[in-house]
Amino acid sequence: KTLINIAGLSKNYNTDGTTTHALKNIDLKISQGDYVTIQGPSGGGKSTLLSIIGLLDKASNGDYQISGVSVAQLSGSQMAKVRNREIGFIFQDFNLIGDMTVSQNIELPLIYRGVDKSTRKIKVAEVLKRVNMSERAKHLPNQLSGGQQQRVAVARALVGNPTLLLADEPTGNLDSVNGDSVMQLLSELNAQGVTICMVTHDSRYAHFSKRSIHLFDGEVVKNTSVQEDKSST
Ligand code: ADP
Ligand code: ADP
Repeated sequence: KTLINIAGLSKNYNTDGTTTHALKNIDLKISQGDYVTIQGPSGGGKSTLLSIIGLLDKASNGDYQISGVSVAQLSGSQMAKVRNREIGFIFQDFNLIGDMTVSQNIELPLIYRGVDKSTRKIKVAEVLKRVNMSERAKHLPNQLSGGQQQRVAVARALVGNPTLLLADEPTGNLDSVNGDSVMQLLSELNAQGVTICMVTHDSRYAHFSKRSIHLFDGEVVKNTSVQEDKSST
């Protein structure tokens, strides 16, 4: 089943009379259960593409459908609604709220959605277990390692059961041990059916995914399926 269908998409930025063609004629499909990495050098268009997929920004031209909904037709508030329903985000810098506990951080998106308290409790406990952080429910973010904080951020992204998990350089602020553990977690979640799209310029991590896309100068220059022999690393 196709979740994301992007066809002939482009994005231009106009600043001071100059136009930057950040994305040029992108075609991309993401199916249920997929795990796609977006790679490429700085300035290639990775962040722009992730913002558009994540409904934080709109394309200039072309078609983008998420779960069959055409994004071009949506107003800003409709986009926000679809985003809240369909997308879970994780970022390089975790973006956890410092004076809230792990549980409270994870609960927040459910409060925004008006989920009742007893259901929230159940869902938070479930997702904490999934990311193996149940023991740290009462901790504050600064009492955790970077890898643990990112696990909490993953839990917060997943608690609303989104269609797609978007990750923007999720290992960018982590040492290799913590980075590997977060990548391991994403692989496990993907094996359980979570669809993932991740931007990374760390090529070591592409092999965790199923498909790798390279953006260069706003164009897809490579779109390859990652080999199944993940045993070598
Ligand atoms: P990457 O994430 O691969 O580094 P970006 O998507 O951030 O690439 O940028 C792609 C191109 O678009 C770059 O040339 C960048 O300078 C330009 N760009 C990105 N955001 C903006 C913006 N808000 N205004 C103008 N130009 C931008
Ligand atoms: P970059 O990869 O260029 O450093 P960021 O990772 O900061 O960019 O952000 C990527 C995109 O996600 C940007 O469009 C930014 O506005 C958006 N973004 C960053 N943090 C948040 C957040 N906490 N909530 C919603 N959108 C965010």
